[in-house]
Amino acid sequence: MLDKAPDRKISDLLNALDKALSAGEVERVVDLFQTDCYWRDLVTFTWNIKTMEGRDQVRDMLKARLADTKPSNWKIADGEVASEADGITESWIQFETGVARGFGHLRLKEGRIWTLLTTMSELKGHEEPVGFDRPMGAKHGAERNRKTWKEEREAEAAELGYSRQPYCVIVGGGQGGIAIGARLRQLNVPTIIIEKNERPGDSWRKRYKSLCLHDPVWYDHLPYLPFPRNWPVFSPKDKIGDWLEMYTKVMELNYWGSTECKKASYDEKSREWTVIVQRDGKEVVLKPKQLVLATGMSAKPNMPKFEGMDIFKGDQHHSSQHPGPDRYKNKKAVVIGSNNSAHDICAALWEAGVDVTMVQRSTTHVVKSDSLMELGLASLYSEQAVQSGMTTAKADLIFASLPYRILHEFQIPVYNAIRERDADYYKRLEKAGFLLDYGDDDSGLFMKYLRRGSGYYIDVGASELVANGSIKLKSGVDVKKLKEHSVILTDGTELPADLVVYATGYGSMNGFAADLISREVADKVGKVWGLGSNTTKDPGPWEGEQRNMWKPTQQDALWFHGGNLHQSRHYSQFLSLQLKARMELRAPIAAVGRIAVRSSSVSTQVADRTSAAAFGA
Ligand SMILES: Cc1cc2nc3c(=O)[nH]c(=O)nc-3n(C[C@H](O)[C@H](O)[C@H](O)COP(=O)(O)OP(=O)(O)OC[C@H]3O[C@@H](n4cnc5c(N)ncnc54)[C@H](O)[C@@H]3O)c2cc1C
Repeated sequence: MLDKAPDRKISDLLNALDKALSAGEVERVVDLFQTDCYWRDLVTFTWNIKTMEGRDQVRDMLKARLADTKPSNWKIADGEVASEADGITESWIQFETGVARGFGHLRLKEGRIWTLLTTMSELKGHEEPVGFDRPMGAKHGAERNRKTWKEEREAEAAELGYSRQPYCVIVGGGQGGIAIGARLRQLNVPTIIIEKNERPGDSWRKRYKSLCLHDPVWYDHLPYLPFPRNWPVFSPKDKIGDWLEMYTKVMELNYWGSTECKKASYDEKSREWTVIVQRDGKEVVLKPKQLVLATGMSAKPNMPKFEGMDIFKGDQHHSSQHPGPDRYKNKKAVVIGSNNSAHDICAALWEAGVDVTMVQRSTTHVVKSDSLMELGLASLYSEQAVQSGMTTAKADLIFASLPYRILHEFQIPVYNAIRERDADYYKRLEKAGFLLDYGDDDSGLFMKYLRRGSGYYIDVGASELVANGSIKLKSGVDVKKLKEHSVILTDGTELPADLVVYATGYGSMNGFAADLISREVADKVGKVWGLGSNTTKDPGPWEGEQRNMWKPTQQDALWFHGGNLHQSRHYSQFLSLQLKARMELRAPIAAVGRIAVRSSSVSTQVADRTSAAAFGA
């Protein structure tokens, strides 16, 4: 018989929450939470992306936001049942605010809220036209001089950006710009995507020849249009490029290829951007209200400066410019770096008969793709997960429901199990001299990605070549200088070289803000990415969320979007709703104030910029 007890526990709690919230009794709400609790809000209460940690932060947030949010109708989500295991009762939930419908997830421990996720699904009165509300397409009946769909699309493309200004401009038309563009299209927010490459998908096509996605297909779907069921597990780069191009077309995006954004400035008085772009050689000035930088986490190459680079006679380039191995057959290559790109490039060079040496300066986290898929991702993103009824939307929300503060605690056992399972493999790599790490706190790949966006290799085959010496390795050393035909390392080794590849990673998206807007604005906004975990390359203080991603920044009307395909799919929903709200709801939410949230670990008050200025308060 179905155990009704979990449902009852969740319903009782939600009833109590509903009553206390409706009565504005903050202390009664706070009392429903564990002392050690986490409330992650994606836009519903905070108009921000924010995790409240502990009762004090819950209290502060509610004091600032409850009256304006007007939450109601909390219940177990339609068609869902609660479940219970290991002392945790959990359920999908739904609720409403004054302006939106919300969906979320709740975990109870000892009858009180341990984790609460609240996410905005849609704005009331501004729902996406889906299902019963889908467009008719055809206009039945008879009408003189009527326009076809094609003519309407052409007219829109001709006028937007010229005789009619877009509400939003997205700089960068990689998968990030395309995903947020698709969401905004569905929400009827006039938008132009600016991309300096000619065609959608070129940012993948132009990468090195051997590249395939490192993440499996279940993790990579774009919004609205999942990959078909016969799509390969690991998309080859040109195939994903073609998918993006097709997607851009069928989702009817206003995509300006061969267009470079040169400069952008914001007029605080008119609350409008001036964005100067070069389109097919001609300057066009755009005047949007909102500017999204989707210029890529992996698009601003970190190019090191070594003595002698100017006299080196061979080829040298950053990994992002590496053409592939064909022209280097029987030559000698040195690849500086030991993360994903370095491994992929070394393996492709070795396959083409190149004598290749990898130079590893410091430790790298390596994890076998199979192990990562089976132990790290399978429960949410795999064929088994699909077969057992897991949807992409639910997988994304379950992932989102785990607070960043404690996420590493869930990750450490996964990577311990991987280390145990692949112990021989790691031993062989170490024996070959490879310097390994598993993250500062042994929490592995995903935490490294969230914290610093670098420092790992998902092994799709190159590590075996390192272990057996096919890819030569010099580790624990740096480059001292280049000579005409060689690379000199800090331990005095001289490596003859016809090719040097700098697989030295990418700079923060903050750099794009500096280049396109100004140093002053970039400094005001601060670092983009990272959690503030105080681990390597992710300095504190603790932020609890990815810095400046998908949420209001210290510069009005400036937003950052990006990340891997999963993040881009998931967070584009919340960024698009924030933008739509700004377009449609200025007045009702103009009263949003600054939230003062006390950090549980830091005694200082952290004043978060919320939507106050951006809404015109
Ligand atoms: C080797 C490698 C492997 C990767 N593997 C994976 C993977 O398996 N799965 C995954 O999810 N991610 C992977 N990534 C991360 C990958 O970079 C991102 O998922 C994806 O490319 C990010 O998309 P994006 O749109 O944010 O950035 P990008 O794809 O980098 O797109 C940014 C775009 O902005 C454009 N641009 C920049 N400045 C301007 C300007 N001034 N004017 C006009 N246009 C401009 C660029 O031309 C570019 O097309 C990998 C990255 C690398 C380098």
